[in-house]
Amino acid sequence: MLLTRVYDALLTVAYPQACRVCGGGVEQRRFGVVCKGCWEATRIFTGAETICWKCGAPSPGLEIPVELKPNVRCHRCDSQTFTAARAIGPYEHGLRASVLEFKRRPHLAPFLIRLLNDVAQRTPLNEATRIIPVPLHKNRARERGFNQAAVIAAALAKRMQLPLDETSLVRSSGSEKYRAGLDRKGRRDTVAGAFAVRHPRLVENENVLLIDDVFTTGATVDACSEVLVASGARNVYVLTIARGKS
Ligand SMILES: [Zn+2]
Ligand SMILES: [Zn+2]
Repeated sequence: MLLTRVYDALLTVAYPQACRVCGGGVEQRRFGVVCKGCWEATRIFTGAETICWKCGAPSPGLEIPVELKPNVRCHRCDSQTFTAARAIGPYEHGLRASVLEFKRRPHLAPFLIRLLNDVAQRTPLNEATRIIPVPLHKNRARERGFNQAAVIAAALAKRMQLPLDETSLVRSSGSEKYRAGLDRKGRRDTVAGAFAVRHPRLVENENVLLIDDVFTTGATVDACSEVLVASGARNVYVLTIARGKS
């Protein structure tokens, strides 16, 4: 601990990490590219807020007893196949800066791994038996050199001591196009049929923890969930770093 602190202090002098939110110095390596103050100002879901139990959309202002929380639905997610989706917090401040940095460098700050683990320990995600990252399109993997979802999945699998499965779920087509400005249905259509399960026996009866970096419309994770459930997965729980506005 002391050594880490000494090392952090030396590192701050030798190579100060500027906070990607406020521009100040980042005090500890475990915080990644965001300083302590900016992390404190970042909204982190505690599990106590009222959300759509299925897709995790916040329902501000709605106060209901704990035992009724699993009944809350936003109904916009009714057609989606996953059982539940959760994130550390909204896609803003420290979480947004960390996700953007993470697209450039395959390093996940220990602080984020801890927060992801906290979310994964809550019901119903704590029923997960297997961790699967959303596969990255081959061309994009080649450009970037890594798949963020796979980096998160590997870190979590180690922390949670769950099997990491990077082979069962694959991209089945190279036709996925992302076009800005597409509506919900348009975005859904571009990913429908983009995924396939290569080893159905490995996902049969499993509670899959499906990992991606950001949940926006849920179209991508839902396309993955459809093929996983069609292959016999009992539940698909989605875990992302942040939740964007859909
Ligand atoms: Zn800051
Ligand atoms: Zn919902």
